Amino acid sequence: MPQVDFSDTQIAFADKSDAELKRSHLLFSLMNYPWLVKAGTRLAALALDLRLPVEGLVKATIYRQFCGGEDIDEVRRVIGRLGESNIKTILDYGVEGKEREADFDRTATYLSQTLEYAKEDEDIHIISTKLSGLFRFALLEKVTRGEPLEDAEAEEYERGKARVDRVCKAAFESNIGVHVDAEHSWIQGAVDDIAWEMSRRYNQERPIVINAVQLYRKGRLQFLKDSLEHARENSYLCAVKLVRGAYMEKERARAEAMGYPSPIHDSLEETHRAYNEGLKFCIDHIGEVYVCNATHNEESCRLQTELMQAKKLDPGHPLVATAQLYGMSDNLSFNMAAAGYNVEKYLPYGPVREVVPYLIRRTQENTSVGGQMSRELQLIRKELQRRRAGTSDS
Ligand SMILES: Cc1cc2nc3c(=O)[nH]c(=O)nc-3n(C[C@H](O)[C@H](O)[C@H](O)COP(=O)(O)OP(=O)(O)OC[C@H]3O[C@@H](n4cnc5c(N)ncnc54)[C@H](O)[C@@H]3O)c2cc1C
Repeated sequence: MPQVDFSDTQIAFADKSDAELKRSHLLFSLMNYPWLVKAGTRLAALALDLRLPVEGLVKATIYRQFCGGEDIDEVRRVIGRLGESNIKTILDYGVEGKEREADFDRTATYLSQTLEYAKEDEDIHIISTKLSGLFRFALLEKVTRGEPLEDAEAEEYERGKARVDRVCKAAFESNIGVHVDAEHSWIQGAVDDIAWEMSRRYNQERPIVINAVQLYRKGRLQFLKDSLEHARENSYLCAVKLVRGAYMEKERARAEAMGYPSPIHDSLEETHRAYNEGLKFCIDHIGEVYVCNATHNEESCRLQTELMQAKKLDPGHPLVATAQLYGMSDNLSFNMAAAGYNVEKYLPYGPVREVVPYLIRRTQENTSVGGQMSRELQLIRKELQRRRAGTSDS
């Protein structure tokens, strides 16, 4: 089985021209300054709120780095380009933070139309959705707390489930997977219930509904095992996306403010341990389980290759994939794809002002921690130096 060299920046950035790489270098260099990221994100959000004409500037810079395009036609070019490097796309309609039923209906319609489109394009493998984009957040919260719903709320909940069903059914008919993203722990109980219900309906033969498991949370390893038990009892394929988790600060702050124990592991090492065990559990049960190793952690990707080798699984085994965000960790994605592994890039698209919350999270993630250069910036710099020297990376 081929070994993967994650430090090979020649393969990682093979699809980038010098000009594109220099543009990314400038962007990540700017993002490396925490004060600039803080000031810039505030200014950009304010300017968009005031309807100042800054969309063009955002679009030419961070949007272009991390997003595919404003509509499905624009995004097609990026999908095709990833496809040339054997990388599939997870399309994410990046609209967030809506609260009205009309918006939820519109999102469900848009997702169903995206699935229609995806059916025609073999490079689109999966779409991604947040259930908070299809339900009122407070309703998901109430269901998670286990409180009885008023009649009107129960009807609203059923309408929400009908929206999810519409999307999953369209996915099933198009043979495209749906990632159900994991969100805040205080709505996750409802999200998991719905994901299990949809999995029972649509995962009889293939991984259509793929539920995310956040291993930075205490007890989620057990939830992963329970997910497999539920699938066995109901005779369907247990399909999961493993993530560490994206809401750590918010989770901890809420727990402290409300006086309950933090649901997050007490240290990064414990999160890593849980993640590794989760990945091992999935690969040990491949066949009954489909797993997407959704991470930017090089060790987690290496572990995937080692576990697969130990089980003598083909790198391109149809029930194992890895995924990274578009615009980040190309050293993992492109090198894994070149070695024959199933690789997916999570590609958000949508109107510039609608994806601003996503872009803010990405800039914050790529800022300097403790004065260190970000991982992305180091890689881009290495590749630019390699090209300037005209040497090969191997
Ligand atoms: C394709 C894709 C899909 C994703 N989907 C989701 C999703 O549905 N839901 C979601 O929540 N996130 C999602 N994420 C984000 C993911 O959860 C992580 O936030 C992000 O990828 C960073 O983790 P990492 O695995 O890359 O590893 P690393 O960068 O090695 O680890 C960083 C992570 O470790 C955890 N951590 C950091 N410090 C501590 C500490 N002191 N104690 C305990 N834990 C700590 C945090 O989760 C932090 O994000 C997704 C990521 C990808 C690439």
